[in-house]
Amino acid sequence: MISSLNTTYLLLYTVDVLRFAVAGSPLSTPSPGGTVEGLKQAKALGIAAMEIEWVQNVPTNIERMKEIQSMSQELGIALTVHAPYFINLNSPDKSKLAASKKRILAALSMAERAGAHSVCVHAAFNLGLPPEKVYDNVRRAVEDILLQKSRDFPHVNLALETMGKHSQFGTLEEVLRIGSEFGIFPCVDFAHLHARFQGKINSKLEWNALLDQYEQALGKAALKDMHMHYSGIAYGPSGERKHLPLLESDANWKDLLTVLKKRRVGGVLVCESPIMEEDVLLLKHTYEKL
Ligand SMILES: [Zn+2]
Repeated sequence: MISSLNTTYLLLYTVDVLRFAVAGSPLSTPSPGGTVEGLKQAKALGIAAMEIEWVQNVPTNIERMKEIQSMSQELGIALTVHAPYFINLNSPDKSKLAASKKRILAALSMAERAGAHSVCVHAAFNLGLPPEKVYDNVRRAVEDILLQKSRDFPHVNLALETMGKHSQFGTLEEVLRIGSEFGIFPCVDFAHLHARFQGKINSKLEWNALLDQYEQALGKAALKDMHMHYSGIAYGPSGERKHLPLLESDANWKDLLTVLKKRRVGGVLVCESPIMEEDVLLLKHTYEKL
C-alpha cells in the first residue's frame, strides 16, 4: 500500500489555476543538486511546479520518494514526472514490449509515492505500420498497464504525450482517443505539434481549435487539469529537431498564453526550454501581466 495521499495533495491540484513548471531541478540549484534541493530552489525563484525527469531511469529508493512528497507539499509545489525515453509499446519484440510496460509501471509507482499528479510517456514508434495497427498495439499495452495501475497506484495519471516526429505515435487525435477510452488525460506538447506539422499550430485560431477538440474528447472539466509541455523548437521535414529558448524560436508564445488565460485552462505547463527557469519565469510573468 502506498502511504496516505493527504488533503494537501488534493488541494494542490483541484484549484483552477495554471502552474508553470520547470523540467527538472533549476539550473541554478546549489550543489549537490537533486530533486529535493531543486524543489527548494524552484520555490525561491517563485516557481510553483516541477516535472521530475526520470528519462534515463526510474529511481528505486522509496524513502527518497517520501522526502520528495513531503518537501513538495511543504513548499506547495505541484509535481509531474517524465517517464524513461526507452519505451516502445508498438515493439514486435516481446521482451522489449514487456520492458517498456515495466518501465512505465515503475515510473507510475514511484510517481505516486512522490505525490506526483501525472506521468508523461513517449508511447511508441510507428515502425512503418499503418496507424490503426499501431493504435491497436498501443491500446492493448495501455489496457494492461492500467489494470495494474488502478489496483496499485490509482491516483496518478498516465499521460501519453503528443510527439514531434512523424515516426512516432502521438498525434492529438491518437492520444485523445486513448484518453477518452480509458479515462486518462494526455500530455499535450504544443511544441511537438508545432514541429510535427512544420510550423503550424502556432496561432490563436489553431490553439483554440485544439482545445475545442480536447474539450470534446475529454469534457469541459478536463481543461481545468491539463498536463502540457511547451518551449521553442527547431524542426525539419520529418518534424522535431531540438528544443530552443522561446526568444530564439518562431513560437508565438504570448499568443498561446493569451489563449490559455482567456479559456481559463488549468493544470501544469512544463517549459522544456534549454534555459530552464529563465523561460519558465518569462512565461509565468508574462501570463500574470496579461
Ligand atoms: Zn516528452
